[in-house]
Amino acid sequence: MKRNVSLEEISDGRLYGWNDMVKADCHGCNGCHKCCTGMGNSVILDPYDAKRLTEGLGVGLQQLLAEGKLELQVVDGCILPNMKMTGPEEACAFLDADGRCGIQRYRPGICRLFPLGRYYADGDFRYFLQVGECAEKKPSKVKVEKWIDMAERGRHHDFLCNWHYLLNDVEEAVKGQEDSEFARKINMVLLQLFYFMTYEEDFYDDFSSRVDEFRETFLTWTGDRRENVRQGND
Ligand code: SF4
Ligand code: SF4
Repeated sequence: MKRNVSLEEISDGRLYGWNDMVKADCHGCNGCHKCCTGMGNSVILDPYDAKRLTEGLGVGLQQLLAEGKLELQVVDGCILPNMKMTGPEEACAFLDADGRCGIQRYRPGICRLFPLGRYYADGDFRYFLQVGECAEKKPSKVKVEKWIDMAERGRHHDFLCNWHYLLNDVEEAVKGQEDSEFARKINMVLLQLFYFMTYEEDFYDDFSSRVDEFRETFLTWTGDRRENVRQGND
């Protein structure tokens, strides 16, 4: 989800790489669950998050949507799933009665990062520290790599870039026509291809093939559409 704020407003002004130390370690949260409540639709799942969660729980995405644990929202022109916040506290549906994450091992990347965020530029991204967001007043320094705790971090990094810039392209294509049949069609393919269809064992390879497939369909559709608009048929 894009935020229309400058990095200076929300961060300590620095960008971090894997080997940098950052003041993000909140000591196991110590009974706090502030960032699991009142987050609106901002805890979005990327395709890897959705795969890890559904495999970990042994439950499909459709079922999690039907049970009200996840919801679909339009974010920057794209329909994407996010953790649903419910109840008087507007708490994540996976927050347990003790105020702990009930899916610690399968929680989405956004939750793993917090209070770090990703700052995308020039086809890549780095991390930034969100100031004033975490309730821990005296966070300790931790190496970014340790905090992220991601297997195959290089491949995951490439996947995240690939996904981010693909969504950017979809957003651009549907801008100003979010309610059109074209936008609906593109979004249905996006959801089906990247969220609902089971992935092969090597997620990253399978994901890359799907990006190629999607871009082919997408380019054909956007090309056809431009032609239709030119001929006054749309
Ligand atoms: S998935 Fe876990 S860590 Fe993330 S918002 Fe929900 S309860 Fe909190
Ligand atoms: S606000 Fe900070 S301390 Fe509180 S649950 Fe979130 S990460 Fe942990």
